[in-house]
Amino acid sequence: MGFESKIYVGPYVVCKPQMVQKIIKIHGCSKCNIKSNSSIVKYCHECGCPIDFYDKQISATSVNYQEVMEKIHEGLFALSATDDVHIWAPNFKLNCEEFPPIKFEGWKDCVHEISQPLITCQLNTFKKQFEVELTILDLEYENTHEPAWGVVQYVS
Ligand SMILES: [Zn+2]
Repeated sequence: MGFESKIYVGPYVVCKPQMVQKIIKIHGCSKCNIKSNSSIVKYCHECGCPIDFYDKQISATSVNYQEVMEKIHEGLFALSATDDVHIWAPNFKLNCEEFPPIKFEGWKDCVHEISQPLITCQLNTFKKQFEVELTILDLEYENTHEPAWGVVQYVS
């Protein structure tokens, strides 16, 4: 198993989740900030305090992209999802007959001519075909950019 760098060429939308403070429950010693995965151990091996559940404040993204993916029924998928930027692209074939999606497969040499009509056609098709999904992204993220057309390098 390994990571592979891939290139996507086509329409996409950039969404920026905010960083928010969240409270999570930790099982362990609150004094030493040590997590315990054992239900048998009753006392902390560092300080002797009882092991229990305690609240911990953490910094997390305001939007979980996997939950968003379920909400949009996987119509779009997150090409890239770091803490501060999620990049969404079509998960289904773009219904743009005149200019079908550009694909780079395997190690074959390939050349694609990119013209302004191609960009305009694919971008308009994207906005229309995924209108429902794009509206959901607008609701989920506070900061969603206008759909764009370009080249995205991502790791899968
Ligand atoms: Zn302790």
